[in-house]
Amino acid sequence: MTKRVTWMCTLLFVALISAAPAYANTTLRVIASFSVMEELVKRVAGDAVSVNVIVPVGEDVHRWELTPPNVLALEETHIVFYNGLGLEPWIRHIEAMSDDQLTLVEVAKKADYAPLMISTGQYKGEPDPHMWMDPAGAAAYIDVIAATLAEHLPKQADVFYARAEEARKALTTLSSEVKERLDGIPQTNRTLITSEASFGYFARAFSFQAQGIWGVNHETQGSAQAMAKMSEQLAAKRPSALFFESTTPSIHMDALARETSIPLAGPLYVDSLSRADGPAANYSTMLRHNAEVLHTALGGATAE
Ligand SMILES: [Zn+2]
Repeated sequence: MTKRVTWMCTLLFVALISAAPAYANTTLRVIASFSVMEELVKRVAGDAVSVNVIVPVGEDVHRWELTPPNVLALEETHIVFYNGLGLEPWIRHIEAMSDDQLTLVEVAKKADYAPLMISTGQYKGEPDPHMWMDPAGAAAYIDVIAATLAEHLPKQADVFYARAEEARKALTTLSSEVKERLDGIPQTNRTLITSEASFGYFARAFSFQAQGIWGVNHETQGSAQAMAKMSEQLAAKRPSALFFESTTPSIHMDALARETSIPLAGPLYVDSLSRADGPAANYSTMLRHNAEVLHTALGGATAE
């Protein structure tokens, strides 16, 4: 081979490498918006994909503001899985900075799962974003995640779909276990009062009446008007307990509990998992923990 042909071959080789997708010979890098989404993505992704998270465990996903490390990480990222339906108002800043290399996936919007409309507050009439609180909703997320990863790494599509199938089965089992635990709570005690009205899907799945002091998403928290309205309702129909969530300030619930002498229980986990050594370190333990808290506080039957 002459020197000239060798040079042409090298050029052709370089051109082929450059034309391939950016992640063809590197790890596919994915970011999830919050910890629950991160865990669901990891269940499907396996080791072939690097998965990070934007909102750290314990922080409020609704009110997060992007940090310089978030922005740096996004520059190296191929896919962002976010819940959408208004859960992460800050996603608009990522949309503004995204280019052709970055795919944004609004998982809840794409999920094959019937949305519930927000019934109170500023966002009344819009879909409630907290679909993952029903394991069937989480399973619908899994399908969106698997299809997206398969599209980006087609050679591994079968593995992603197999993991998704496994995750779906585990979520169905989890749903039955949670239902069984909650079945011990008398129907008359199934009132679930929290700060944010984020238990709509959970309530639909497990037969509860759920209500929040304030509405859903980026709402003004605990306005005097909302507090007075809830206080009035509590006085009229006294539930067995009030509940606080791990990522909302407990000051409003503390005040209501004191005012009405109704016991306060929690934390319930919704918008974030707990730290690894906490009671809700993954999706399954989060739902089981919530079921235990509800069972204890709402007078669930104890085993013989
Ligand atoms: Zn929320």
